[in-house]
Amino acid sequence: MTDAIRPLIAGNWKMNGLKASTAEFDAMLNGAAGVAGRADLLVCPPVTLIAAFADRARGKAVVVGAQDCHPKASGAHTGDIAAEMLVDAGASAIIVGHSERRADHGEGDALVKQKAEAARRAGATAIVCIGETQTQRDAGQTLDILRGQLDGSLPDGSTAANLVVAYEPVWAIGTGLTPTAKDVEQIHGFIREFLTASFEADGARMRILYGGSVKPSNAAELMAVKNVNGALVGGASLKAADFLAIARGC
Ligand code: PGA
Repeated sequence: MTDAIRPLIAGNWKMNGLKASTAEFDAMLNGAAGVAGRADLLVCPPVTLIAAFADRARGKAVVVGAQDCHPKASGAHTGDIAAEMLVDAGASAIIVGHSERRADHGEGDALVKQKAEAARRAGATAIVCIGETQTQRDAGQTLDILRGQLDGSLPDGSTAANLVVAYEPVWAIGTGLTPTAKDVEQIHGFIREFLTASFEADGARMRILYGGSVKPSNAAELMAVKNVNGALVGGASLKAADFLAIARGC
């Protein structure tokens, strides 16, 4: 962990969670004070739960975020949700460019950049996800793919307050597989160089999260890697005990 950067442990609930899940979220809120000395905690539930969770989280050591947004602030876009609406509901961060959205909805870097700009416009932090597929990795293209995604999806003039980058190898998401600590160090170092070249002092302070099969048993090793400033956690963020254990690994 880079000393000066406070870690962020972000939970991505994906398309999971009903009103009954409030009990699990409350357990996270209850345990959060115990890890607040180590890391910031963010939970991104489905949009249907954002307002209720944000109300419950008020004054607690957890903030609430969203998993996606539309680039526009309002208008004739049936079924879509603007960043402004998410902020209005209580979100303070918005994940954009997750590989599942890139794959399921054909989202490319240009659209991801517009969404990250929308998050900033609305006053939220954008968490921009990048990552290579297994095929790209096998072909030795990882750094080229990541450079292209960074080039294409990060808004100009971003700051350490309004941009977080999440490196999520697609082959590691939900599979139980993770890259070695050595691979993570190399890739996060590469991302750090890119951010510093693009955003200077802010780039040196931006958080770079690792995501993909983070769980309590591997969190401490991954979080100890240089330039890993926290985690984006999918499956293991659905259980308060696991999510809090990951944060204790910082
Ligand atoms: P996972 O998902 O932790 O379930 O692998 C991570 C993510 O997709 O953000």
